[in-house]
Amino acid sequence: MVKIPRTPAREQAPRLRAANFDEVCLGYSPDEAMREATRCIQCKNPRCIGACPVGLGIPQFIHAVREGTFAEAARIIALDSSLPSVCGRVCPQETQCEGDCILGVKGEPVSIGKLERFVGDWAADNLSATTAPKAAPNGRRVAVVGSGPAGLACAADLAKLGYGVKIFEALHRPGGVLEYGIPEFRLPKERVVRREIEAVRRLGVEIEANVVIGRTITIDGLLSAEGFSAVFVGSGAGLPKFMGIPGENLNGVFSANEFLTRANLMRAYDSAYDTPIRAGRRVAVVGGGNVAMDAARTALRLGAEVSIVYRRSEAELPARREEVHHAREEGVDFRLLTNPVAVLGSADGWVSGLRCLRMALGEPDADGRRSPVEVPGSEHDLPIDVLIMALGTSPNPLIAATTPGLEANRRGCLVATPDGATSRPAVFAGGDAVTGAATVILAMGAGRTAAAAIHASLTA
Ligand SMILES: Cc1cc2nc3c(=O)[nH]c(=O)nc-3n(C[C@H](O)[C@H](O)[C@H](O)COP(=O)(O)OP(=O)(O)OC[C@H]3O[C@@H](n4cnc5c(N)ncnc54)[C@H](O)[C@@H]3O)c2cc1C
Repeated sequence: MVKIPRTPAREQAPRLRAANFDEVCLGYSPDEAMREATRCIQCKNPRCIGACPVGLGIPQFIHAVREGTFAEAARIIALDSSLPSVCGRVCPQETQCEGDCILGVKGEPVSIGKLERFVGDWAADNLSATTAPKAAPNGRRVAVVGSGPAGLACAADLAKLGYGVKIFEALHRPGGVLEYGIPEFRLPKERVVRREIEAVRRLGVEIEANVVIGRTITIDGLLSAEGFSAVFVGSGAGLPKFMGIPGENLNGVFSANEFLTRANLMRAYDSAYDTPIRAGRRVAVVGGGNVAMDAARTALRLGAEVSIVYRRSEAELPARREEVHHAREEGVDFRLLTNPVAVLGSADGWVSGLRCLRMALGEPDADGRRSPVEVPGSEHDLPIDVLIMALGTSPNPLIAATTPGLEANRRGCLVATPDGATSRPAVFAGGDAVTGAATVILAMGAGRTAAAAIHASLTA
């Protein structure tokens, strides 16, 4: 059998894209998708399905792509996922479906993510209505707190089961991190996120924006005065962490969440909008995850020279390889084995520098990662005018604080069983609100599991 090489997806050239917010990856054409689909050997026991947190029928949809029956591929995907164009773009496929593809043992796995993206985009361009089957209304109502992937997935499944579902969202636009966090150049808002949210709306899901549950109305209010039979909490983990070093309160220090929200949700990069953002000439981003890469690449596109400051080495960078590669190609400088100890300021209260120490790798820590240790006498200053902290996030304490009996752990995460039941009857939770910052697909999986558990509890 002749081995067909993996079909590369076209991308904008690094120099061009470093100066615009258009999507970096251009995806597959129908011919490219069909060609890539022929690489799938249709395993009898496909490991890729087990490696997908929502159990997508991967070989089945790829078979349909191979045959050129794209509507059928979309129908198969819609059985398990309401966000294929999103997941095809941002899922860490290399550690999930593609990581378990048998072709990857001796060569390159099937490009499952790019095929999913192709089908999602094709369906949005060519199919007027959702292809997912939907039960008749059952007369019961469920409230969903938060419109990120967990809330959207839970709402979509409940709507398909015949529930009246209403999502309450604190921000003025639905989508959670998909809308306010992940930048336009990785996940286009109008063309992808909003279209997939529209597909959820078409299932009958109502979305009310600008409602902060715990302030505007409580969870108990939803269950009593508003008459919902159950509530799903998918409120994410939007509370940023800081290092606790001197100078972090200076002007020009942002959390990555704030910086990205201004750029994405408030479109600060677009001169048609008047959201203030200090783009900076020299920007340091502290952290090594996907969020750090997004913040760095956003600052670069706003015209800054950008350095990533990370205390471990390249091998420990938690960001996806693809994101690190793209950031480097675009000109982001990586200062690895470097740890900030103080933010320096000018007389007028603005950031002027970052004092750092060089690090060396010592013994492995509890996670098995080698712990960084300071190199004596290695103190040095980086001149900067904007500092972005991308050190992780935790759930906002508001909902736990305003819902008597709703248990949260020491990290502020809501305590829930694997199927999403919390310490309060009729209150379920999932996604980053339970796990802490994780991934889109895990949040979707949690939303779907909780939807099934809510259905079971309301029909028992
Ligand atoms: C910059 C960035 C880049 C990322 N990149 C990737 C990636 O490439 N791949 C990947 O898989 N994952 C990525 N992630 C992680 C991923 O986006 C999250 O794990 C996922 O969005 C979690 O989904 P969620 O629905 O639990 O929460 P969220 O997406 O955070 O949504 C929660 C929603 O609840 C709303 N909310 C909060 N409190 C209330 C309240 N009291 N009342 C009403 N509404 C409320 C919030 O406004 C928000 O809209 C990234 C995260 C960030 C921040």
